[in-house]
Amino acid sequence: MSRQLTSLLAIAAVCVALAPGQAQAATTPKKAATPKKAAAVDCSQVKCIALTFDDGPGKYAGTLLDTLKKYDAKATFFLEGQYAKSRPQFVKRMAAEGHELGNHSYTHPDFTKSEPAAIRSEIQKTQDAVKKAAGVEPKLLRPPYGLADLTVSDIAAEFKMPIILWTAGSEDWASKNVEAIKKKTLEVAKPNGIILMHDWVKQTVDAMPSIVKSLQGKGYHLVTVSDVVKGENLEAGDIFPVPAGWEN
Ligand SMILES: [Zn+2]
Repeated sequence: MSRQLTSLLAIAAVCVALAPGQAQAATTPKKAATPKKAAAVDCSQVKCIALTFDDGPGKYAGTLLDTLKKYDAKATFFLEGQYAKSRPQFVKRMAAEGHELGNHSYTHPDFTKSEPAAIRSEIQKTQDAVKKAAGVEPKLLRPPYGLADLTVSDIAAEFKMPIILWTAGSEDWASKNVEAIKKKTLEVAKPNGIILMHDWVKQTVDAMPSIVKSLQGKGYHLVTVSDVVKGENLEAGDIFPVPAGWEN
């Protein structure tokens, strides 16, 4: 994928749910005890969508995690390092419950207006905060406001991360209305979509049970970003989806 980048405006993202592997019946005779983990969802074969939540962990993250757990749905959280530091218990839980963690800077500056050293520091401090909270480091970068340029792409490459934007947004931060968020999300949902949402918007968290049930009812597996982009063979520094006008 080309890394010819100029300034880029973000699009909106979707999230995917995943169908959990069913626990084996307890009565199944135990042969060679190959632990049967939830089978990975193959998004080239089944309908997937990735719900992504930016700027958190927000204060409603626990409720959101409860909902995702109840419906066996996975999501991706693009965390702000300062909140990973102040709410580490949510970060730990996200990782433990199979969600994907991404880096969304430490204090949410516009990277296209930041000095390279400041960008590196924002990314590194967030990697460190997430690692401290959950024991894992993000492998995906979503720059604040979805804004990136060649410098941001080069720095993402240094950190060995692709830049992940979104295919559509729920516009939750603008509407702050449960019905509107649900309507918009279902409207923009599409196979292998990456949907932008925010877990600091209470109405988003309130709408989630209904959104998840509806998406699953339409046959979607709610999975992580890495699940939906698996076939894209993204390299560090790549931007996905490629913004309109950037293809070459
Ligand atoms: Zn953000």
